[in-house]
Amino acid sequence: MTATPSLFRFDNSYARDMSGFYVPWEGAKVPSPELVLFNRSLARELDLEPDLLETSEGAAIFAGVTPPDGASPLAQVYAGHQFGGFSPQLGDGRALLIGEIIDRNGQRRDIQLKGSGPTPFSRGGDGKAVIGPVLREYVIGEAMQALGIPTTRALAAVTTGEDIFREGPKPGAVLTRVAASHLRVGTFQFFAARGETEKVRQLADYAISRHDPDLQVQEDRYLKLFARVMERQAALVAQWVLVGFVHGVMNTDNTTISGETIDYGPCAFIDSYNPAAVFSSIDHGGRYAFGRQPMIMQWNLARLAEAMLALFSPDDLDMAVERVSSELARFPELYGEHWLAGMRRKTGIQTASDDDKAFFERLLDVMHEQNVDYTLFFRHLGTAAAGDASSLRALAETPEALDSWIGEWQSRLDTENTDRADLKAGLSSINPAYIPRNHMVEAALQAAETGDYAPVRKLIEVLELPFDERAGLDDFAHPAPQDHGPYRTFCGT
Ligand code: AMP
Ligand code: MG
Repeated sequence: MTATPSLFRFDNSYARDMSGFYVPWEGAKVPSPELVLFNRSLARELDLEPDLLETSEGAAIFAGVTPPDGASPLAQVYAGHQFGGFSPQLGDGRALLIGEIIDRNGQRRDIQLKGSGPTPFSRGGDGKAVIGPVLREYVIGEAMQALGIPTTRALAAVTTGEDIFREGPKPGAVLTRVAASHLRVGTFQFFAARGETEKVRQLADYAISRHDPDLQVQEDRYLKLFARVMERQAALVAQWVLVGFVHGVMNTDNTTISGETIDYGPCAFIDSYNPAAVFSSIDHGGRYAFGRQPMIMQWNLARLAEAMLALFSPDDLDMAVERVSSELARFPELYGEHWLAGMRRKTGIQTASDDDKAFFERLLDVMHEQNVDYTLFFRHLGTAAAGDASSLRALAETPEALDSWIGEWQSRLDTENTDRADLKAGLSSINPAYIPRNHMVEAALQAAETGDYAPVRKLIEVLELPFDERAGLDDFAHPAPQDHGPYRTFCGT
């Protein structure tokens, strides 16, 4: 008899080294796992064999029914501030970390099943997920990846053959998620809130070994870890804002240490520019509105600073507060630099000027007032640079309202002696033609609920190459028609 090759070459550091930070657990049994999406290119990146996994055996693994050889499935514990209020006990209430593998680039990656059944952290929830939110996380996560934005990835989506009750019966599903790690601000908060300083230190050391190994031999490594997380998150939120992404539920348990976007729940992309845009049906106060995201991220990082405080200057709390506060105070500037550099790239401006912030704010003010589609505006800038501003101007309710800014911008390009043809090509590789337009996502998810996966597959295919405009894909490039009504998203449960 020949031995079957191991499907995953697991090396489970969290299970091995972090006892007390999780409970070993197993997935629920479900009637009939079926693979509906499988990410072959990600599988190859992970050094997995797609042909062995895109099978009924793979479906059973991705549904959580059969743990693969070498897995050590576990539910991680964490806490978190949800909409500003602290919940001391959250944790994987419907997810299992099945193990870690080292990918082709030598990077350690978590493999997690989301929707695999109740755990000790389910707090009365059913531990399940349904097809719509699972596919939303798949589609938007993969779109973010294609846009060059750090994110967890989607390896597979399976249906379970079960009906799960939400607003009515919905097809049950499980997402296989791949992440640089699942360490969250909330993971630190869990142990800090219990006064378990040694566990906070152990977690920080683990985070350093995973994400910032160069700090291992440095003095002050905990403060430096904090600074690294802040730098990654400042860069990340700037990328969200530059592309028009609204996360929707920026709780501290949804804020990673790795700097990856995680937990796509009621997320959405803005159409017309509006800093107050809120899509989530549960965000009544607009806490997580589009334009508030940088400020909220700084708030979340302040919660991380508090959770790590005992590590910074263990013998002198005042000193610890002072040192981490001066780090945290750098956030607005860090964020601002990333955002400004990004806006210069989006508009083809090569040199920084003192007026840049005001220059871009003047643009955003007009876009807001004129209901200009954010994505299309930047996409059409290239054509305007090459001499024809008509499609750009047509995006405004009153085209003349854009003229003053377009004139200023043209003069900047002239001053910099920019080659206009080169600029057009360059801008097309920075400003996407295709983003996950809310109405297209919704239509694809609705079709999937009835068992038709063709639209979601098509959407994924389009969004894989967001910068390459292709014939016949106009519907994917435009906002919903005016009569479509306001867009609402619901939490990803
Ligand atoms: P989220 O809003 O998806 O980030 O989840 C917040 C917390 O609620 C986490 O601890 C989740 O594990 C938990 N949770 C969300 N949905 C469910 C569910 N259907 N069953 C059990 N726990 C859940
Ligand atoms: Mg979450």
